[in-house]
Parts: sequence; structure tokens; C-alpha cells
Amino acid sequence: MAEEARLVQPVDGETFLIDLAYQGQPEGVGVYLLVDEHPALVDVGPTPNLPRLLSGIRAAGLEPEAIEYVFLTHIHLDHAGGAGVLARSLPRARFLVHPRGAPHLVDPTRLVQSAGRLFGEAMATLYGEVAPLPGDAVRALEDGEEVVLGRRRLVAVATPGHAKHHHAYWEPGRRWVYAGDVAGIALPGTAYVHPPTPPPDLDLEAWEASIDRLLALGPQRLLYTHFGWQDEPATRLEELRKRLRAEGAWVKEGLEAGLELDALVARYQARVEPELEAAVGPARARRYRLTVNGWMNVLGWKRYWERRA
Ligand SMILES: [Zn+2]
Repeated sequence: MAEEARLVQPVDGETFLIDLAYQGQPEGVGVYLLVDEHPALVDVGPTPNLPRLLSGIRAAGLEPEAIEYVFLTHIHLDHAGGAGVLARSLPRARFLVHPRGAPHLVDPTRLVQSAGRLFGEAMATLYGEVAPLPGDAVRALEDGEEVVLGRRRLVAVATPGHAKHHHAYWEPGRRWVYAGDVAGIALPGTAYVHPPTPPPDLDLEAWEASIDRLLALGPQRLLYTHFGWQDEPATRLEELRKRLRAEGAWVKEGLEAGLELDALVARYQARVEPELEAAVGPARARRYRLTVNGWMNVLGWKRYWERRA
């Protein structure tokens, strides 16, 4: 039995988590709504889930037309695929993104092609229309650039590793980090952190440096796109680092033993799956698998190690 996703949860009185019910499941993809003089979203999710996002904004007491900023952590389709279509309902919004991501929002052709190679026939169901954003709706944010929402402000923190064009967003007033995928995938109330390591950008050194950067901020809360928030950032980030190193080493050993992709994936799954299920139980393990999968993770590591060799 699939559980119902909760449409909106308050993180605090001015911050709301909207569960997009990605693939019909709870705790897959979440969008944060920040209420202030200039209201904002963090990430938007894919196009098929936009009706749910708009309902969530209204349920939190705002009209979508009021949204002025959309902070995109990166342009992967589970985070930003719906941006172009959403812009039609958000006439005032500026979509803020890493400079390397901005051109792909205005012309998503290559993004759609490379996602198509990874997702194949599931592409249409998962992501639907990936529409271009008008150039004047996109603003590239440099590392360290600050955007004032009113009493609140967010700072872009360049955090490569999962993707070269990844920004986390730091809210110094609350000591919160909106982490996108750089903090991995962690569901509420679980200590298990699952690293999403797809091709082509995966970079272990860069990712560890990004973890160090986030730790140096001294955050008190991590707000994940996948999914919800946790208040032991240092523990979660060190757990992520440990898993990244371990999973990378498993794939590297397999490559050195001459294994082909299928065998590498089987080897990886044989280690990850029992650990995941033991840590979170089978129902929640399925939710972790909504946005990260073994085949893609191994493919990312394989390319990474081959590039370095
Ligand atoms: Zn993601």
C-alpha cells in the first residue's frame, strides 16, 4: 500500500516543505517555500509534478504569482526539469542558478538528450515537457552571491561533486543549508545517507571539498530535496563522506578486477541493498530508490575512475 504524501509541512512559521509526490510516492522530491517580502522557492521538481507544487504554494497561503525567486540547486531534471513550464505560472519569478547551469535552462536540448540516454523510455513519464526558460527569467549566481528576500537572505555556495554546476544555498540568519544533492539523500528520522553518484560530473575530491565547505559554515540544519530536514549536519555529512569513499572503492576494486558494467552493478547492489534495507526497512528503502539507483551510481563511478586512470 502506497502511503499518501503530505502536501505541505511547515519547517517553521515562514518556511514550508511541499512534497511533490514524485512517482506517486511520499518523500521523493520536496520543494521549499520561503515566505518573506520577496517569496522564494528552492528547486521546483519535474513538470508532471507542477500541479502539485502550485497546490502546495496555495495551501501554504500564497498565490504562485507572488513568487519572485526560484533558487535552483542544479539543473538535473528531478530538481529543475519543470522550470520552463512553471515560469508560465510565475510571471515575476527570476530563476537563479550556477553560471554553468544557466545556458541549459534557456536551451535544454543537450540536457534532455543526455537525460534521455540515462532514462530511456521512462523519460516522458518521469519528466514530461522540459521547456526552455526565457533568457530574461534566468539569472546566474556567482559563488558567494547573496539574494535578499526581506528579513531573510540566501547565499549561493558553489558545491561541485554531484554536479559541476551545483549550488547549495546558505541562510545565515537560521544557519540552514538548502543542500540539493550535495549532502546526499536522507529521509527524515533516518541516519542513512545515500550518495547519488550519476555520470557525467561525479568527482570525489570536489565533493569532499564541498562537504568541508558546508561543515565550515557551521550549519544547524540541512534541508534536503530528497527529502526533508535534519539537525545533525556534521554527523550526516561525515556519514556521506564515509559512504562516498566506500562506494567509490567498491567500484574501483571491481574495475581493477576486470568486471564489466553489469557485474559491477550486481556487486555494488549486493553491498548497498542489504545495508540500506537493514538501516531503514524495505518500505523506506523504496523511497530512497526513487531518486537514486544502483545502475546510474555505478555508471558515474565507472566514468570517474576511467577518467582518472
Ligand atoms: Zn536529485
